[in-house]
Order: sequence, then structure tokens, then C-alpha cells
Amino acid sequence: MVDSTHPPEVDRVAASRKAIAARRARASLKRDVATRVITPQEMLRRAAADPQSAAGTMRVTEFLTSIPAIGEGKRDRILASLRISPVKRLGGLGSRQRAELRAFLDDRLPEPQPRAGRSRLIVLAGPTAVGKGTVAARIAADNPGILLSVSATTRAPRPGEVDGVHYHFVDDAEFDRLIADGELLEHATVHNSFRYGTPRAPLEAALADGRTALLEIDLQGARQVRAAAPDATLVFLLPPSWDELVDRLVGRGTEDADERARRLRTARVELAARSEFDHFVVNDDVSRAAAEVVALAG
Ligand code: 5GP
Repeated sequence: MVDSTHPPEVDRVAASRKAIAARRARASLKRDVATRVITPQEMLRRAAADPQSAAGTMRVTEFLTSIPAIGEGKRDRILASLRISPVKRLGGLGSRQRAELRAFLDDRLPEPQPRAGRSRLIVLAGPTAVGKGTVAARIAADNPGILLSVSATTRAPRPGEVDGVHYHFVDDAEFDRLIADGELLEHATVHNSFRYGTPRAPLEAALADGRTALLEIDLQGARQVRAAAPDATLVFLLPPSWDELVDRLVGRGTEDADERARRLRTARVELAARSEFDHFVVNDDVSRAAAEVVALAG
């Protein structure tokens, strides 16, 4: 006979394994909110969709303190003003509480709203190691009609890279000339070393022909395109989770501790820029992410 008050040892082990996995999943999600891989509103949506999920079983107190700029004092004031008990879990909020928490977040941390107008000039940016190059290459391979801009750079070609195909490899004097003659739509020094820039002419020709043009550039470049071509569609590529980005950034373990820490700091700063973008696409699967970016083109 099974005694329900004393579950067999195997059940207890399984239950404790499950509890550990659930705690890990919640910790991982909190890192995603802290690093802005997901917005607090996205977490609320996930909790509402499945109260048993990692988001749904997270305490509202843990959720709030994972949001950048909310400490324990602020958290307690928010909970008091929204009349939410600190022991509540996100999936267990009443509909009034959920709506008020949502309104509070929308007011303080608005999510970017998709822009009304569509443009055929698409800028793909995102944190280092998120896979921008791979997604851009897939878009170009699957959509011969889309122009993938070929940047000018002062860095040397890597093995297998072809001048005019992967980059226009130029020296500093030629890069200076391109800037002086207004031939670059934007340009930036990336990773404090080499200069990269987007040639203006092929882009303008493609757009004039009614084609879509795709730029895969860094954040500084994306901001310059926003200023130069305000109707451009800015797409931010996100990792599926912060933990996954960390794996991709430092996974090979070839860097020393300082270098790893530096890369992680950079990734946090880069992720903080997501709110400047019109759309975000999660790179969980290259083909799917590529198709989603293409669907955003006007
Ligand atoms: P890599 O040297 O590894 O090919 O590229 C390094 C970085 O330069 C990537 O983050 C890439 O997005 C960025 N990049 C490539 N071309 C351009 C460009 O034309 N302008 C800007 N601003 N960044 C670029």
C-alpha cells in the first residue's frame, strides 16, 4: 500500500531534483530580466500564459528586484502601492493586480512600440556573439533580392575572406578618403581597434531599385543610421537567454578571467541599448530568426 504522507525515497529524490531544476530555471530567468534579455512585461506574459512555469512560480518580490534600478526599498513601496502581498507568485496574481503591475511597468519601462511606417532599409545589430553575422548571411542566401551591404574595413582579411565579398579591405588613408568624400553612410571604430563603415552608393542604388537592403553593423553604426535615415527599420538580435550568451561569449574557455569579465560587461552595456530599437528578434534558431527579420522589411 502507498502511504501518501511518507512518499517512497525515490519520489522524494525526484521531487527534490524537480525543485532544484525549477529554482535554477527561475534564477536563469531573473538574470535574463536583470540583463534586459527579456523585458519585465515579457516575464508577466509568460507567467500569465503558464502559472506553473518558471515565470509563473516566481515570487513577485524576486521578480521586482531582478529589474535594473529596483532595490528592496523601492520593491516594497511598489508592492504596497499596488496592494500585492510579498508572498504572491507571478502566476498567482489576480487580474486587477496583474493589470496594475503591467500598467506600472509600461509607465516606468515602456517597451518599444513597432513603428507604423515600414522601410526597406534594415539594420541588424545586437550584442557581441549573438550571431548577427550568421543570421545576416542566412538572409542573404535565402533572399537573393535583398542586398547585404558590404562594409569597408581597415582590418586585415581573415583566412577565407574575399575582398569585395565579405568586406572591402582598405588602408587607413583610403578609409579617411571615403569619410572625407562623404562615401560612407556611417562609420565607427569597433572593439577599439579597426574602422568599419557602410558604403553609401550601393545601398542607395538598391533602395532606388525597390530592393531591400540589410546592414549588419555595430551599435554605434546603428545609431548613426537612425540619425541619417530616421525611417530605417532597426532590428535588435537577442540571445535566447543571458546564460546562453555567456556560453557563446566565453564558452570556449580560451580567455583569461579579466578578458571574460570584460566581455560580459560589454554584453550588458550592449543589451541595455535594446530599447533604442524598433523591433527585437530572438536568435534561437537561425532560419526562424532570419525569416522574422525579412518579414519586418517594408
Ligand atoms: P568582424 O571584424 O568580426 O567581421 O566584425 C566586427 C564588428 O564590426 C561586428 O560587430 C560587425 O557588426 C561590425 N561591423 C561590420 N561592418 C560594419 C560597418 O560597416 N559599420 C559598423 N558600424 N560596424 C560594422
